[in-house]
Amino acid sequence: MSWFSFHGGHSGQFCAHAKGTLREVVERAIALGFTHYGLSEHAPRFRDVDLYPGEEALGTTGLERAFQAYVAEAIALRSEYGDRIELLIGFETETLPPVIWPDTMRRLREENPFDYMVGSVHDIDGRWVDFSRAETERLKADLGGPEALHLAWFQQMTAMVEALRPEVVGHIDLIRKFEPRGFAFGPRALLAAERLLEAVRATGGVLDLNCAPVRNGYGAAYPQPALLDMAERMGVGVTLGDDSHGPETVGVGLEASLAAAATAGYRSIQCLSAKRGWETVPIERVSRP
Ligand SMILES: [Zn+2]
Ligand SMILES: [Zn+2]
Repeated sequence: MSWFSFHGGHSGQFCAHAKGTLREVVERAIALGFTHYGLSEHAPRFRDVDLYPGEEALGTTGLERAFQAYVAEAIALRSEYGDRIELLIGFETETLPPVIWPDTMRRLREENPFDYMVGSVHDIDGRWVDFSRAETERLKADLGGPEALHLAWFQQMTAMVEALRPEVVGHIDLIRKFEPRGFAFGPRALLAAERLLEAVRATGGVLDLNCAPVRNGYGAAYPQPALLDMAERMGVGVTLGDDSHGPETVGVGLEASLAAAATAGYRSIQCLSAKRGWETVPIERVSRP
């Protein structure tokens, strides 16, 4: 049996909006019987205007220092616990700073011994889409309405996938975080989503089946059923991501992700190994022990 997550492992040690230490996160993953666990701390931000709330005291220099400390601690924990769990060390991207993010993210990847990357977008034109309903509504109005927002989102995701070719493609419909349950994208947005999925397939990426919305009351796992059905029909693989932000959220909600994959018709889930790359695991072999 395999039990794994490749998006998460944020900790309060290196991320101002997470809790606990990285060691506590890893020990929790071991206690829960994870066979593989991916650590994907947020990329630092390089401009003051791109700091997350709560990072003001750290500043961009403090963030870069914390990111390097994260990598060093993750490597140390991997050697310490390597006989009990396969830890994979990665990071979660931003499309920031605007325009120059492809080079910035590639440089982060090249300068560190990462096993993989979670390609994520959290902004459109430097404006956060996942912090508050009010901010996202303002962005929607400024861009000219919901369809314009959704098209801009899927275009930005597609550009990120094509530029960075991430192993894991993070929360592809994060943009609907604040929409009501059962929210459906319009036909043009769905076409843009299809283009994104074509890019994921072409670059060999795998979708992050991310249970954070289930845990936090924002509806179905990302991607929502309509997009997951489309991905399954197109032959795009999925993996599991708990998007944990501390030891108490490790693994919480992953069964919902697994159930969503089965409902969409997936017969297998992709599991990442540092040595062997993506491995296809029959869905009945993926289970919490
Ligand atoms: Zn986070
Ligand atoms: Zn994210």
